[in-house]
Amino acid sequence: MQLATKQKIQPEQTNIEKTLKRLKAIEEISNTCSALFTSDLALASHKVLQPFCELTDADYGIVFLLRDPDNQMYVEAVYGLPEEYKETRNNKKILNLYSRDVRDNWPSIRAMLRKQIVIIKNMDQMNMSFSKYFMDTIKPDKVTSVAAVPIIINEKAVGTITKYYIKPHAFDDEELSFMRTTANIITNTIEKNYLLESAKKSEKELALANDVLRQVNQELDSFVYIASHDLREPLRTIESFVSVIQDDSEISNLNRKQKDCLSRIVNATQRMRNLIEDLTNLARVTRDIKEREHEIVDLNILLIEVQFELTAFIDKNNAKVIAVNKLPSVVGNKEKIKSVFKNLISNGIKFNKSKVPLIQISTKEDNTMPSNKVCICITDNGIGIDKKYYEKIFGLFQRLHTQEEYEGTGAGLAIVKKRLEKYNCEIWLESELEKGSKFFFTLIRNN
Ligand code: ADP
Repeated sequence: MQLATKQKIQPEQTNIEKTLKRLKAIEEISNTCSALFTSDLALASHKVLQPFCELTDADYGIVFLLRDPDNQMYVEAVYGLPEEYKETRNNKKILNLYSRDVRDNWPSIRAMLRKQIVIIKNMDQMNMSFSKYFMDTIKPDKVTSVAAVPIIINEKAVGTITKYYIKPHAFDDEELSFMRTTANIITNTIEKNYLLESAKKSEKELALANDVLRQVNQELDSFVYIASHDLREPLRTIESFVSVIQDDSEISNLNRKQKDCLSRIVNATQRMRNLIEDLTNLARVTRDIKEREHEIVDLNILLIEVQFELTAFIDKNNAKVIAVNKLPSVVGNKEKIKSVFKNLISNGIKFNKSKVPLIQISTKEDNTMPSNKVCICITDNGIGIDKKYYEKIFGLFQRLHTQEEYEGTGAGLAIVKKRLEKYNCEIWLESELEKGSKFFFTLIRNN
């Protein structure tokens, strides 16, 4: 009696053990796949194929994958077949899944074309076959039962995972669900790989485009630099001939119109000189000429120097330039930082109709700013700027006024912005027409 019960329990135990083994395999397959990255697709297929076949007692297994652009069917991994099978098979004529000569009497092809699991319990009773190379490889064995599970991504079959049995094999429900789960895992892995690969591709393309852009910019900067140097020479010639005419004692003989022409030439050459100067400066910024970039600059001292260098301009315009609070020390190239201050201060004086143009320099406390930066604010009581021009004025040669209204080339703020960008620093403004402007910019704090 006791013996009978024992005998009855045994097959159930075996079944439970089998199920547990398969569950464990699914867990393992899923863990392995989630840790795999792009180039490991073959490895992923192999890792999945082995338990897929082993735990259901298959004799052979193959993972086929379709490859772009021709939908050709490649062997990605094999089980129970010689190692060289994959390579030799892939070097033979590879089938295009959708070409006319492909018939669906190969189980793997049928699974892909119909996007369904194909189960064949007895090959002899079906009009099905395999590739000659496969049959030759397993000779003298013959396959009786087959299961081919399609791998479907975005509703397109991209491969199969197929297993082969020499002896007849009964496929139960649990085994079918094991096969489906395995196919799902491999689908997810491939999807992840596709995504990673396309992300990597975009990253590469972007890097390449950046390289080209950098090169073009460098060439352009060199061109600007050389051209602006070359332009100085003819300019000097014009200026010296004009001064010869002006110095000539016969000048009094020139009529009003001729004198007017001469003074226009002088103005035009002066303007051209300024433009060339600005272009050279701009090219120098972008050419990234390495100067002493790590000087410690006390902004209080720097401001005194700026005031001194702008004395004539400040006095001529009856302006006042004052520091509202003690300024910090920063790190960078002193001359470049000085040119930023000079530019913003002289703009504040120039674009100003107040009796006493007042320029105030202060630090702005801002908790949202990175701790390695300081924010400086240059406030003026000038004509102000309409909000719609906040961006535009930092563009090269962008001016809001005519030459007659206010002199200038429109390169100053573009140079300031580029200079600051070299330090990863920013510049922005707040302003209102007729109410003055506040230009804010950051610099690297000296800790
Ligand atoms: P430029 O001073 O040579 O004209 P900038 O690049 O320094 O060139 O300035 C661009 C334009 O921005 C100026 O022509 C002017 O219209 C406007 N702008 C700059 N600073 C101020 C300011 N502080 N107040 C009002 N307008 C300004």
